[in-house]
Amino acid sequence: MTSHLSKNIGNKTVTHVLGYPRIGEKRELKFAQEQYWKGDINQTELKQVGSELRQRHWNDQALSGLSYVTAGDFAWYDHVLTTSLLLGHVPARHSNGGAPDLDTLFKIARGQSAVTSRASADEAGCGCGSRHEEGEGVAASDMTKWFNTNYHYIVPECRQDDSFQVSWPQLFDEVKQAIQAGHNVKPVLLGPLSYLYLGKEVNEEEVENGFDRLSLLARILPAYQAILSTLSELGVEWVQIDEPILSLELDEKWSSAFKPAYHALANKELTGEVKLLLTTYFDSVADNLVKIVELPVNGLHIDLSASPGQLDAVNAAVPQDWVLSVGVINGRNVWRADLQAWLEKLQPVKAQRGDNLWVASSCSLLHSPIDLELETELTEEVKSWFAFAKQKLNEVSLLGAALDGNGHAVEACASYSQPIKARLTATHVNKPQVQQRLNGLTKVLGERSAAYSERAHHQAEVLGLPLLPTTTIGSFPQTAEIRQQRSAFRTGQLNQAEYEQALKGHIQEAVKRQEALDLDVLVHGEAERNDMVEYFAENLAGFQVSRFGWVQSYGSRCVKPAIVVADIEREKPITVDWSVYAQSLTSKQMKGMLTGPVTILCWSFPREDITRKQIAQQLAFALRDEVDDLQNAGINIIQIDEPAIREGLPLKKSEHKEYLEWAVHAFKISAASAKPETQIHTHMCYSEFNEIIDSVAALDADVITIETSRSNMALLKAFEAFNYPNEIGPGVYDIHSPNIPSQEWIVSLLETAARKIPVERLWVNPDCGLKTRNWAETEASLHNMVEAAKTLRQQYQA
Ligand code: GLN
Ligand code: ZN
Repeated sequence: MTSHLSKNIGNKTVTHVLGYPRIGEKRELKFAQEQYWKGDINQTELKQVGSELRQRHWNDQALSGLSYVTAGDFAWYDHVLTTSLLLGHVPARHSNGGAPDLDTLFKIARGQSAVTSRASADEAGCGCGSRHEEGEGVAASDMTKWFNTNYHYIVPECRQDDSFQVSWPQLFDEVKQAIQAGHNVKPVLLGPLSYLYLGKEVNEEEVENGFDRLSLLARILPAYQAILSTLSELGVEWVQIDEPILSLELDEKWSSAFKPAYHALANKELTGEVKLLLTTYFDSVADNLVKIVELPVNGLHIDLSASPGQLDAVNAAVPQDWVLSVGVINGRNVWRADLQAWLEKLQPVKAQRGDNLWVASSCSLLHSPIDLELETELTEEVKSWFAFAKQKLNEVSLLGAALDGNGHAVEACASYSQPIKARLTATHVNKPQVQQRLNGLTKVLGERSAAYSERAHHQAEVLGLPLLPTTTIGSFPQTAEIRQQRSAFRTGQLNQAEYEQALKGHIQEAVKRQEALDLDVLVHGEAERNDMVEYFAENLAGFQVSRFGWVQSYGSRCVKPAIVVADIEREKPITVDWSVYAQSLTSKQMKGMLTGPVTILCWSFPREDITRKQIAQQLAFALRDEVDDLQNAGINIIQIDEPAIREGLPLKKSEHKEYLEWAVHAFKISAASAKPETQIHTHMCYSEFNEIIDSVAALDADVITIETSRSNMALLKAFEAFNYPNEIGPGVYDIHSPNIPSQEWIVSLLETAARKIPVERLWVNPDCGLKTRNWAETEASLHNMVEAAKTLRQQYQA
């Protein structure tokens, strides 16, 4: 069949993006999903929303002048999950026996509660990437982070006897729709190796049988051949086949599996005439380049934003008759590309490769906010630094035209780069006073003035806490009232004084409830914070906060990362007044509450003109001053949350050590202004510590609170084996679930913990902040927790 998709591509540099955000500029998809889960709209209405979004996004791509629009990037929940359905790879507990439908898909993603089939419609999160788990019923598949992004995918469950068979027509339907609408379409497909790699082995009988999910490859390939064949029949010329794992340091087993697999996919008798663009992103392919160039594909895409240094080696290695697609427009950040610089860098490659050089986004634009034009509260200057997804389409297109020698485009690239060039030397961006402080940075600045053993002494004297002290992680329920008041303040219906008064009311309430519960270390409840990072971003110089810069985190959940735009400074104390007010209401210890430098960094869009390490150091200094002000104002316990420290790890293992060194140092700089008698806590909400346990210990926090309840204290093993030297609060119940933990359950968890960690060093607390829970659940759970601690206290002191 001749391709009817190659019109007007002619002799111009081919331009494309690897994918577009699917949620819609007004988060239309999120709201439609949630309405559907609540039963407020039906499937036809939901599908209509999706269809309109896709048409809009294809139009945007076509109107910007891109050579192709991308199909197959849309997902009702997650694109890895879509791939599972496409392949007919559905866990038996989610299957209805027949072909999967939309409800099957949501059942895999969200589970099914025994009580109601479309449970918790509002997928609000606590910030730690865990979902609400709604009671008994059918468990959802696991969800985990997509490489080093804040996007989460549904982990494919692999079982020994799994079979694969094309079962879900979404990809083909969408390709047809794009063709019907008159677009040149390039479908995207998650490749078979990455698909299996991202999955996990599941063993129903819980017996070790040595099953390796890579052994499913032979069975999955025929399904991929069938998919390619159908795309061929639809008239598709190029398929973007994503193999992001080629950016990892793969072991031999995985890297050598590519060759036979791609030979199968290049078998034209079974796959038709489609050409394959092998797509990599998020890091360099250097470690796998030798193997890549042996594959029978027609082109390679590399991410030059993540790894600009790989261009020469890749260009030299990739066969001349392959397409080389260069990802230069960063899909993961909000900054304008320096088009002029890219033009100069790519001109020689263009001269050498001609039409075989394609220009693209670095990765899917899924990870960037959608439209800068919606931001009416940013200054013109700040806006001239940014490009969101819609603007990035124009960047790709403009750069392509400039590479073709189009004079207007060449000039346009130069003037487009102006604002970001001017920014590089602007003193309101690069602040001499901040840089001076950074220059004075030494290793000792991260050291507390006394060792833990000595600090513990001082703290015991000052704090007067009982054995097994009880506390919470910081936030209390963010009630409808709090949210209403925040939005009233935003829109001017409440003035500053009225808003502060309202917040003080919530603090009083929180203190009263905690005293009634007889908790030992209290918190003020974080009612003033919409989000643990955005709150600090709004109160530190050097950040900008967007109004509509939403990015999908998982399913219907979106986050709006703050943007680091300039050197970071704390112009005035941020949390001190709230903590001091809260302390004034009680004679118990009030814990100050800060978000740590690494977490603020990881959950924001970073600058690209300085390193992540430098940004973390600037944040560390700002927080250091806050710690000092808090202790001087009489706050004796200060928690510095670092839930994101592990997710900041680079993709390549060989780079972990360096990252962990500066990340730990940044935390320590922020904590080290604390006097020996000031107790520093930190909090992390995950359970896989093994890899970073040394670094966690190196933080030298006096107390660390962690998640353990879901793994029955299993993760304490890591701490036990390592002989963690300071105090630990292993979370004794799961705040992600509405279930109320019984006293007996908590007692038994604590007894387990006390067998692994000396009881004198144990704290008692939930596993994360309580902002997603309601007060009834919170009080009932905390009551049982406090009673359990009291029971054990008597037991151990007897
Ligand atoms: N202090 C924060 C809270 O309680 C911590 C949240 C988190 O670790 N994700 O909400
Ligand atoms: Zn947490």
